Amino acid sequence: MATTTKKKKPATATAASLYTERNDVSGWEPELWEEVVGPAEPCPTALLRKEYGLPNSSDPSEWPEDAPVNVPFWANRFVYGINVGPFQVSGYWGAVDLLRRALAAFSVTLPDLYRQLGTEGMLNVRSVRGSATTPSNHCFGMAIDFKIAKQLTNRGVERVHEGLFYVWAVLRNFGFYWGLGFPTTDAMHFEINKETVLRWIRNGELADDHGKQKWLKSIGEPLDGAKLAQGIPGAWPSQSPASPPAAGAGTGAGSKPPGQAG
Ligand SMILES: [Zn+2]
Repeated sequence: MATTTKKKKPATATAASLYTERNDVSGWEPELWEEVVGPAEPCPTALLRKEYGLPNSSDPSEWPEDAPVNVPFWANRFVYGINVGPFQVSGYWGAVDLLRRALAAFSVTLPDLYRQLGTEGMLNVRSVRGSATTPSNHCFGMAIDFKIAKQLTNRGVERVHEGLFYVWAVLRNFGFYWGLGFPTTDAMHFEINKETVLRWIRNGELADDHGKQKWLKSIGEPLDGAKLAQGIPGAWPSQSPASPPAAGAGTGAGSKPPGQAG
């Protein structure tokens, strides 16, 4: 078996490498998926649906793209047009709060890349792409799709914009999961992870009818990006074997651990 060599990355991401290089993940072995995406687990969509229902009362098979929010439980928990730094989003207030904090840290650790961040949307009541019946985590306003320098890495595309690895290097510290680990790779997609959702449920935050109002009162307060960035590497950890993995780093058939679709 031939050994593979890992391409050395600079300690600090440069604009040129972030915007021009891409990584081919089609040959990754299961261990590499685990190492890069784990130990975070996907958002527990089925549990949220069971506990609190869906944001639109129709059957998901009948949802149009961007169906209206017509269930009061969720309507009372969504916030709209919130400035999170590089753009505005709408979503579940707790998810928007974590995103705002993550991006404040991002502005300090990776300012060049931060200025190139854009979004394809957060709150969107729709099914998973390619499925007529499975609700997407975007319907709960707990997932966001990123663009970098106006470029999208579409669902199913296994040549991933390198900048998304650096987005993950920050967001993994703020309670997110990366859609790169889904059975059908969705590298632009980041969602609140299982551990975070279970904590919200356990602490009563999801059930709290006043959580959104309390947060809206404090949303105007500026965040200390430098403080939030403490302990977060300014680039993908250079000591990790996946730093980020170079094209062709894996030698297997590209199988990966089971996950959910976003
Ligand atoms: Zn998405």
